[in-house]
Amino acid sequence: MLVYTSRRLLHSNRSQILRAFSTHSNTKPYDAVVIGAGPGGLTAASNLMDQGFSNICMFDPHFTAGRIHEKYREVPSNTKTHMFEKWATGTKTFSQIIEAAPKPNAYTTMLSFDQDEGCMLGDAVDVAQLLSDGIRKVPGVDSVTARVRKLRRERDVWDLPEHGITSRKVVLTPGSHPKRFDLVDKYPHVKELDLDITLKPSALRETVPAGSKVGVIGASHSAVLALKNLYELGNVSIVNFHRSPLLYAEYKDGWILYDNTGLKGVAADWAREILASENPNPRLRRINLKTDGRTDKEIYDRELEDYTHLVSAIGYEMNALPTIEVDGQEVLADFDPLTGRFKEKESQRPLPGLYGAGIAYPERVTDRAGNVESAVGWFKFMRFCKRVAPEWAAEAP
Ligand SMILES: Cc1cc2nc3c(=O)[nH]c(=O)nc-3n(C[C@H](O)[C@H](O)[C@H](O)COP(=O)(O)OP(=O)(O)OC[C@H]3O[C@@H](n4cnc5c(N)ncnc54)[C@H](O)[C@@H]3O)c2cc1C
Repeated sequence: MLVYTSRRLLHSNRSQILRAFSTHSNTKPYDAVVIGAGPGGLTAASNLMDQGFSNICMFDPHFTAGRIHEKYREVPSNTKTHMFEKWATGTKTFSQIIEAAPKPNAYTTMLSFDQDEGCMLGDAVDVAQLLSDGIRKVPGVDSVTARVRKLRRERDVWDLPEHGITSRKVVLTPGSHPKRFDLVDKYPHVKELDLDITLKPSALRETVPAGSKVGVIGASHSAVLALKNLYELGNVSIVNFHRSPLLYAEYKDGWILYDNTGLKGVAADWAREILASENPNPRLRRINLKTDGRTDKEIYDRELEDYTHLVSAIGYEMNALPTIEVDGQEVLADFDPLTGRFKEKESQRPLPGLYGAGIAYPERVTDRAGNVESAVGWFKFMRFCKRVAPEWAAEAP
């Protein structure tokens, strides 16, 4: 069921009602539609509002501040608390919502933490929820509790045919989910253990019985947190299959080396102390697939013989996008990670008025040592949107 929430609907404005429920896109277009209302979508919407966009529609099937609320509340943050605080006050729109919110609230709670330490993602996402609830009440912002499955470019506007809505601009912030490694299908005696469960200690305890043997594939931040949570169960054996060495973020004078790819916070501390220990616990082994000398198949055939569970922690991939049609033809969209704009993949023609942000469409950055990374994190989404939103706003509709 679709739930349309609009202050103007509440005031029974007839043209709004028509626009919200009409199956024909013949009413006034929105200035912008934002698809996805996780931290990425909230950041994009608030930046466009700072740019003077007064007529915005946000879509999300839940409006619960994205995947972190759903899956990762029990994950310790890899960024310091002050980065979430900077994010929450990064736009005038956000600051006004925070200022107007009754106190105490999630933001004032966050202010009471040591700003130089990490926090639990549950505490950060409560602040995002405060902003999500607040932004939906701003006059001129409509919100639709639904998924967008189709976008059509017609006569200089974007049409959302399922919803009877048109918009001059559309921002895609659909988020991402863990990539699945199909290795598990080849070893049917081994149960697939969802990465998201390993990142939620309260669920993990219920899912993995004592005496289990668990393989974890990957060396990412999430892989290390999965290993830590499994290790802390105290009664399971774990093997970590990896190719790359552990990479740690390094705090330099005014910048961070491997800011987006290196381990930070609790995950880094635990990796240094336990995973990379010179006296490893026999319950926790690591196998480097690159240097082992055996083929991957030989390793897995031998190692997984008596394993009960296998976790893929090999990174994240973008959630399914709405289909995009231009002049009646379905097209694939190529993202430009410097401008946040898109082109048609095949023709390389610009897709005017279509933009991306958040974890699905991060900015590409080059650090002072020349490393090129995707900038993933709430404050990084903010920095990106602050730079590109004025350009998006200035682009002819
Ligand atoms: C384990 C983990 C730990 C992390 N830790 C940190 C950290 O400490 N600090 C930090 O800054 N960042 C962290 N990140 C990275 C990143 O900042 C978060 O993943 C962030 O929450 C991503 O926000 P998002 O809005 O881009 O995506 P999401 O939170 O996934 O939100 C996307 C939203 O879009 C909706 N959606 C998708 N498709 C559609 C559609 N077709 N129509 C309508 N709605 C749609 C989804 O339902 C969802 O609500 C972490 C990530 C992970 C995975």
